[in-house]
Amino acid sequence: MRQPARRSAALTGAETESTESPEMPRTVDRLPNDDRTNGWSALLAARQPRPSLQAQLDVDWLIVGAGYAGLAAARQLATQQPGAAIAVVEAGVVGENASGRNSGFAIDLPHSSSPSDAAVEQGRHVIRVNRFAVDALDRLVAEHGIACDWNRCGRYHVAVTDAVAAESLKSYAHNLDAWGEPYEYLERGALRQRLGTDYYAAAVYTPGTHLLNPAALVRGLADSLPPQVQLFENSPVVEADLHGDSPSVRTAQGRIRAGKLILAVNAFSQSFGVYRERQVPVLLFASLTRPLTDAQLASLGSDDTWGVTPAHGVAGSTLRLTQDRRLMIRQGFEYSPSLRTNDARRAKAKAMNLDLLRRRFPQLGAIELEHFWMGWLAVSQNHAPAFGRIAHNAYAASCCNGSGIVRHTAAGMLIADLALGRQNPLIDDFLVEGTANYIPPRPVRDIGVGLTLAWDMWRGRAEQ
Ligand SMILES: Cc1cc2nc3c(=O)[nH]c(=O)nc-3n(C[C@H](O)[C@H](O)[C@H](O)COP(=O)(O)OP(=O)(O)OC[C@H]3O[C@@H](n4cnc5c(N)ncnc54)[C@H](O)[C@@H]3O)c2cc1C
Repeated sequence: MRQPARRSAALTGAETESTESPEMPRTVDRLPNDDRTNGWSALLAARQPRPSLQAQLDVDWLIVGAGYAGLAAARQLATQQPGAAIAVVEAGVVGENASGRNSGFAIDLPHSSSPSDAAVEQGRHVIRVNRFAVDALDRLVAEHGIACDWNRCGRYHVAVTDAVAAESLKSYAHNLDAWGEPYEYLERGALRQRLGTDYYAAAVYTPGTHLLNPAALVRGLADSLPPQVQLFENSPVVEADLHGDSPSVRTAQGRIRAGKLILAVNAFSQSFGVYRERQVPVLLFASLTRPLTDAQLASLGSDDTWGVTPAHGVAGSTLRLTQDRRLMIRQGFEYSPSLRTNDARRAKAKAMNLDLLRRRFPQLGAIELEHFWMGWLAVSQNHAPAFGRIAHNAYAASCCNGSGIVRHTAAGMLIADLALGRQNPLIDDFLVEGTANYIPPRPVRDIGVGLTLAWDMWRGRAEQ
């Protein structure tokens, strides 16, 4: 089944512009660069990637990017149009992308929120979308037996200092009350018992977050796609024509032309000339220790497995004790317009990861990092997604703002619905904060974003 071209499709509320004039085709100027350091996939058995694209294809639907967004879009299209030909092209290998490199928190609630009636009301919409996506993932994990340590053990949203506890956690607790969500407010002594550290002044514990191995989850989602979805790995798109009646892409050895295209490349949207003035790429760093010894685990005296997210989103650190007894830390939040970094920066970030773990767990003695890696995501100035129709037959779901396991699972399903013309009220829920707003171009942006992040980091330095 091939989609007829629809020249006069009505615009929808989710329509946004690609911010690029329709010259075509366009060379994709910055490709993902897999540095083969992802700790999560290093813990898994080897996986055979799907073959790369080596043909000229015509399909009904083409999805670029096989992270949570692209895979969810492909599955949703296949469910709604079982006879459609659907292709997914992925630059690298599934699980080595940001979707496989993150901290593994599938969060059901707004990440945090300000103390206002508007934030409470918006939060209700966010919760509807997040629960919809968590439930979808929960079903897929069970249905396909995806072994990814999927575990609903909740999360501790923490403040290191009393000031941030009073400012952020109290208002978060107030909003949880308004939403009727269960939680516990825990202070230092109680946290010492649960987490094995007295580093934190306070935390709000909510029970609905799932913790997981993200590389295992995204691999499992790719390997259980319906049969009419063809996935091509190791197939970077080097040229794209998003604007024609039949959008098309070219890879080193192939080409695909489609009835409709969905771009799901998150931080790499800018390389396609899309959302360049709506979102910025941000670089994060993470590490996993070796499994703790019996003696180290005993000295921790904590719960078996737990996850901590920082109330100070920019300066703070995400932390986990995994089911296989490793500590994971994620720290750093760096404006990274080039989508590249260097060894000196990596070495500094790795040393910082280690130092922050030692500060929290001095009783463990020597802590050794077994894996260190990094990954890019995209954020907007107003924390809203970049989502919608970007050309006549092209759509994009981008700008995860840091919580894409759940939000971009939803975004993928919802962008598919939008492209199919399905009325799904969750699209309005997803866009409750609007879409990503305008950010001035470089070099003004470099100064503005650089200074804002540096200031946030400095102000939040006690929350590291
Ligand atoms: C260190 C770190 C920790 C994080 N922690 C969490 C967390 O705990 N919880 C959470 O919810 N989120 C977390 N995130 C964010 C989360 O990983 C992202 O929101 C999520 O991966 C976005 O999914 P996506 O499918 O939109 O994008 P991606 O996972 O980035 O997938 C986009 C895909 O597009 C592909 N692509 C790009 N360019 C091309 C091209 N030219 N041709 C073909 N394919 C291309 C890429 O290779 C990639 O596979 C974290 C991110 C990082 C980096």
